[in-house]
Amino acid sequence: MEPEVERLLRSMQAAGVRRLPAPRPATEAGPRASEPRTTEPGATPPAPASAADRPRAGSSAPAPASFTPNLFSAGRPAAAPAVQDPEAELAAVAREVAECRRCKLCEARNKTVPGEGSTSARILFVGEGPGADEDRTGRPFVGRAGQLLDDIIVKGMKLRREDVYIANVVKCRPPGNRVPEPDEAAACAPFLDRQIAAIRPAVICALGATAVRRLLDDERSMSSLRGRAYEYRGIPVIVTYHPAYLLRNPAAKVHTWQDIQKVMELARRG
Ligand code: SF4
Repeated sequence: MEPEVERLLRSMQAAGVRRLPAPRPATEAGPRASEPRTTEPGATPPAPASAADRPRAGSSAPAPASFTPNLFSAGRPAAAPAVQDPEAELAAVAREVAECRRCKLCEARNKTVPGEGSTSARILFVGEGPGADEDRTGRPFVGRAGQLLDDIIVKGMKLRREDVYIANVVKCRPPGNRVPEPDEAAACAPFLDRQIAAIRPAVICALGATAVRRLLDDERSMSSLRGRAYEYRGIPVIVTYHPAYLLRNPAAKVHTWQDIQKVMELARRG
């Protein structure tokens, strides 16, 4: 068995995987062809899902007549090539981000926010985009939401912030902290992909719906997506709420803690 495949299987088993979904017939092609691979629920069951956001894997619903690719994940390759010098590659990404004008978010930014952390991190957190504090400092997750993420890392995971890597879907602040638009996320996608390829973390923790759309090409609700391990470029992905959401909805912290425990388990075994 290929080492990468063996590593992924071990990681997914640690997350509670018992079997992979069976391949769907060609008649179910379309948007579902690009769905992430999901696992069976692990120890933590997902919150109840409405009929509208029930998982689609294995569904017998008819495929839509046409498929418009999701720009959040347009053109993503199936596997990341090996990077010889991760430190140099991450530095190159930061330099290119600083000069980047690929999308309209460059117009109002003060500082670009490429990301920061250990080049050999086993855990990569991916958020949405810089806010006002990040735009001012050039560092990811330094505002109130960042302080909560620090608490999760330091108090919850017993790690240091510099032990993990923290990045965002877009590297420039969307005006008024709006959600990045699909064309902006698509324009910035190569930077995040290069960061993932350079770091090769054991697990990616997707913080919030924008990161989920970018990595998993999935529009379902967070509550229906939580509780399973997914995969991006051969790396397990755990989905949880964005810290900014937790500030507004403290009751959801218990769910995030369950998700973080899965992240730690995958990081230990990956
Ligand atoms: Fe470039 Fe990304 Fe900034 Fe857009 S958000 S200008 S693609 S670095």
